[in-house]
Amino acid sequence: MNISENIKKYKAELNDVSLVAISKTKPNDDLLEAYHAGQRIFGENKIQEMTEKWEELPKDIDWHMVGHVQRNKVKYMAPYVGLIHAVDSLKLLKEIDKEAKKNNRVIDCLLQIKIADEDSKFGISTEEAGEILKSEKLAAMENVKVTGLMGMATFTDDKEQVKKEFQYLKSVFDEFQKSFKELKTLSMGMSGDYKIAVECGSNMVRIGSAIFGER
Ligand SMILES: *Cc1c(COP(=O)(O)O)cnc(C)c1O
Repeated sequence: MNISENIKKYKAELNDVSLVAISKTKPNDDLLEAYHAGQRIFGENKIQEMTEKWEELPKDIDWHMVGHVQRNKVKYMAPYVGLIHAVDSLKLLKEIDKEAKKNNRVIDCLLQIKIADEDSKFGISTEEAGEILKSEKLAAMENVKVTGLMGMATFTDDKEQVKKEFQYLKSVFDEFQKSFKELKTLSMGMSGDYKIAVECGSNMVRIGSAIFGER
């Protein structure tokens, strides 16, 4: 596994689509190899692990939290996190707003919509996301911004099913964008399904094992 070559390959192939290199469980040396190949956006799914890496690695890295977030841990990443992908409640947004304010920052977030045909996946319904987007409570929060949507397709070899799920999320994104102009990011696609996701209109993919090797 040549991390540096993988980064260059994906960056060239993805063009305008943002590449989040998912580095969870990987050692700092692996992240540095990607960094030296030009990668600046890294994604982690545990706040403590991400914070340790943030402390030790170059300060121009843009850290994305892609995992489920517990409210009591928001404070640890509020000083530096660049984008939180998996927000699933107004309560969580309120906590992020509070901690962002303490740090004099505005933190961008994505709402995770449940598109997979599986119980284990986190996320909210399209209706719930719509409610959050139009709520006055969100409008009153000055230090948090919802800038897009995120989704994870069913883990299956059935490409047609994955495609249907991504197409559905893209249609929701397009519909919401008509009323909520600040939505610009559609985060969908991982190592196994990023090609389908990009075909369906993703503009941010989260690729881990195809860059860094199996975990
Ligand atoms: C781990 C993870 C990824 C990357 O998965 P790979 O299959 O290794 O590319 C993407 N998104 C989320 C939310 C993850 O937790």
